[in-house]
Amino acid sequence: MVFKKNQLEGFEQVIFCNDPKVGLEAIISLHSLALGPATGGCRMWNYGSTEEALTDALRLSQGMTYKASIAGLNWGGGKAVIRADPKAPKIPGMLERFGEFVNRLGGYYITAKDVGVGADDLRKIKSTTKHVLGIEGESGSSGDPSPATAWGVYHGMRACVQHAFNARTLKGIKIALQGLGSVSYYLLEHLIADGAQVIACDIDRQMVDRAVKKFGIETVSPHVIYDVPCDIFSPAALGGVISPQTIGRLKTKIVAGAANNQLATSEEGVELMRKGIVYAPDYAINAGGLINIYYEDQANGGYSRSRAFEHVSTIGNIISNILKRSEAENLPTHFIADRIAEDRILKASLTSREG
Ligand code: NAD
Repeated sequence: MVFKKNQLEGFEQVIFCNDPKVGLEAIISLHSLALGPATGGCRMWNYGSTEEALTDALRLSQGMTYKASIAGLNWGGGKAVIRADPKAPKIPGMLERFGEFVNRLGGYYITAKDVGVGADDLRKIKSTTKHVLGIEGESGSSGDPSPATAWGVYHGMRACVQHAFNARTLKGIKIALQGLGSVSYYLLEHLIADGAQVIACDIDRQMVDRAVKKFGIETVSPHVIYDVPCDIFSPAALGGVISPQTIGRLKTKIVAGAANNQLATSEEGVELMRKGIVYAPDYAINAGGLINIYYEDQANGGYSRSRAFEHVSTIGNIISNILKRSEAENLPTHFIADRIAEDRILKASLTSREG
């Protein structure tokens, strides 16, 4: 295959892992090792081509670098993608072989769960490499990341509310919540306890019923969630929801939520700022799950829920700092977040070169 011009610029190492005997076609992308081992899940997907798989691996590993950096973790960004149908029965030996490729990297890449790869798959990978984290149910595991992600989003929302309304709690704050899945379920505990008023939606009726039964929240159809007058619009379902089609409909002062890649393009972040809407950059506010798994790594002392959750609560300060700098420098919050993440990486690179 031919790489697109400059496609690999800024990437530390990209490895193609092929073994036709076991149907393995995988790519491991190590975006940055400046802060520590490149860490990020392994995704299995029916990519239409190797090029498509490579583009995804590069994009996702770069995102991990920024998320780890802004969260203050000594990890770089990595990601693996396996080109296979996640719904089809797994070819015997394929995941074990993938583990061998991970093992060959000697700990420079740490893998974990992602779309299409579950706990059973991770166990197979772990049979050939120890560089695997996040196998739920195993002793020393950090477990489901969703409660930690929710805890971070909650602290990030509080920082936004403090910034926008000078309010110390979420009491009386109206939140339009898009998606009632795993993170939202845990998030709702904190929001309701704090006195927020939540109006939510989900495309899955069961998720709506579960949340209404437990929290007594108001719900609307997913089609109209963008139109709900609120203080916080909170994406917790899909990426790309802040787009030219939706941005004019928002009647909110803040956008803050768990979803990845909320902005369809960087331009929407600029537009939010023009409209005076405070935006909590997605990868900063939703880093709680990554922070949680960081504490599972033996190199970081082994898993302790209290240490992990204490670190996750610093997301409030991280968001607050981004918002203050955005105001002072008159730049959109997603630019500021990128700068903070890049500065930390640059400093680490310079120190390691000097050393
Ligand atoms: P989930 O799959 O448990 O929940 C997502 C929910 O969104 C589902 O109930 C789904 O029915 C609903 N949904 C899908 N399309 C919708 C639409 N158009 N309108 C309304 N609802 C819709 O996922 P989750 O683990 O709760 O994660 C939520 C978001 O946060 C995702 O974008 C995920 O990538 C991101 N995220 C999650 C974590 C984590 O720890 N789980 C960490 C970082 C980021």
